[in-house]
Amino acid sequence: MLEQGEQYLKVSPDTLQPDRAAQFGDYLANTMQYLDAIIFSSTPDGGQYHFITSAIERIIGLSAEQVIKHPMSLLRMILKEDYPQFRALIDSVRRKMPGTVEYRLRNQRGEIVYLKHTAFPVLLNDEIVRIDGVVYDVTSQKLNELQLRKSEEKLRGLIETADDLIFSLDRQGNFTSVNNAGALNLEYLPFEMIGKHFLEFVSEEHKALIARSFQEILKSKKVVTFDAFFISKYSKEIIFEINARAMYEGARIDGVLGIGRNITNRRATQEKMKELNNKLIEANRIISIERDRAKQKISILEELNRLKNEFVSNVSHELRTPLASIIGFAETMDSDRDMPEEMRVEFNQIILNEAKRLAKLINDVLDISKIEEGKVVLNKSEFNLVEILEPLIEQYAKKIQDKGIVFWYELPKHKVITFGDKGRLYQVVENLLSNALKFTNEGRITLLAQTLYREFEIIITDTGIGIPKKDLPYIFQKFYRVSRPGAEIPGTGLGLAFVKQIVDLHKGFITLQSEEHKGTTAIIKLPILKQE
Ligand code: ATP
Ligand code: MG
Repeated sequence: MLEQGEQYLKVSPDTLQPDRAAQFGDYLANTMQYLDAIIFSSTPDGGQYHFITSAIERIIGLSAEQVIKHPMSLLRMILKEDYPQFRALIDSVRRKMPGTVEYRLRNQRGEIVYLKHTAFPVLLNDEIVRIDGVVYDVTSQKLNELQLRKSEEKLRGLIETADDLIFSLDRQGNFTSVNNAGALNLEYLPFEMIGKHFLEFVSEEHKALIARSFQEILKSKKVVTFDAFFISKYSKEIIFEINARAMYEGARIDGVLGIGRNITNRRATQEKMKELNNKLIEANRIISIERDRAKQKISILEELNRLKNEFVSNVSHELRTPLASIIGFAETMDSDRDMPEEMRVEFNQIILNEAKRLAKLINDVLDISKIEEGKVVLNKSEFNLVEILEPLIEQYAKKIQDKGIVFWYELPKHKVITFGDKGRLYQVVENLLSNALKFTNEGRITLLAQTLYREFEIIITDTGIGIPKKDLPYIFQKFYRVSRPGAEIPGTGLGLAFVKQIVDLHKGFITLQSEEHKGTTAIIKLPILKQE
């Protein structure tokens, strides 16, 4: 029941009908039985209770009656280590001040319960006349808090020990937190980073890229991954692969949460791998070039081998023909002792000619193979080129005219001095003249020799059978002869090969122009020393 002069829990006459006032206490008492808090009222010293609501039985396990009978039994249940809190409340009330404390108590069922106890001193004429109180059971709330704190500590421990960079930023991009190990990666302590902008730690040329990543983070709710190129406190470049997302408070962005992995070493390894890979590619390229080269060498060797075989078979063939006729005629002469003198002379002549042909062939083959092997040493001297032409002209003029062909020539009137092998160059011109004679049956053969600047030019032209266009490219090859079925002209096909090689050795130049059935022109140019 309410008493006069009470300083708390005043019920305003406006909200309470006068005739209902008496009922108010009953209503209140009734409602209080269902409250989850223990409400009580005691004497100032706490020795006696005026009333205790029945919640006490649910929370403490003692009935209101038991407590009223043995008021001290409650105090004994308070955990010893929490007793000071309870004392503090008593002290506060004694000082006529309401107070709230929390303490634990082992209830009748042996369970530890967390209680929140508020006590109000009720004063009358500045004297405590009564103490009213409310006790809440905050056990589940406390246990939740405890649980939360524990898991928070665990999380913090995890974050602190992680080698990754774990951070949060405010909406502007300033660090609000960063873990120890993460900061140490950048050679900072967390407090040196907190409050500073993320971009302050990033290398200049990558700022734009990171700013773009942040825009993406703020736009989407997804985790955004990007590489951040940090510059450490002592100017090292450190690369982190960062996963970050925006933190929301309702619909509003509250900041950014991120975790980054130091990938500096991984990146360096990748770079090295790339470099090694490039080297590998280069090495493979070189190997394949070398392989191709080796293949080419093999094919050159094979070609040389083929040429050698061809050469041997050509030579054998060319040797066999004159030998066969020498042996044939010699045997005939031997077996026919009574052979007429005329016939003997003729056979002898044939044997002699074939033997000479054989000798020429053998010489030619030896010459050519010597030149090819690079074994030929030119017997060089200074001499007048006109000197080698004059005897040749004398010799061939007769042979040509005998065949009914017109011969015309023109030589310089002065000396043309060159430095070369006189004998070999004589053979060169002789070969060309012999071809002109051999392959011409009518018309004209001309030899024109002249000096042009620092060169001596010899042009030998005939009106002979000419060379088909298709054969021209091969004409300087050993044993190459134009095949003329039914009209074979004797020869071994070594003449032009020899000519070309000797002219080359003299750093000269030779070309053959020809048209079938019209004639052929051979042009030789040789370097000269002087003219006199
Ligand atoms: P060798 O000169 O060894 O006795 P050859 O004269 O047949 O034999 P080359 O002088 O090398 O051989 O000439 C090669 C071929 O070129 C000849 O067989 C011939 O078919 C052709 N040839 C060379 N000169 C002439 C020419 N002036 N007119 C027509 N054909 C020619
Ligand atoms: Mg010839």
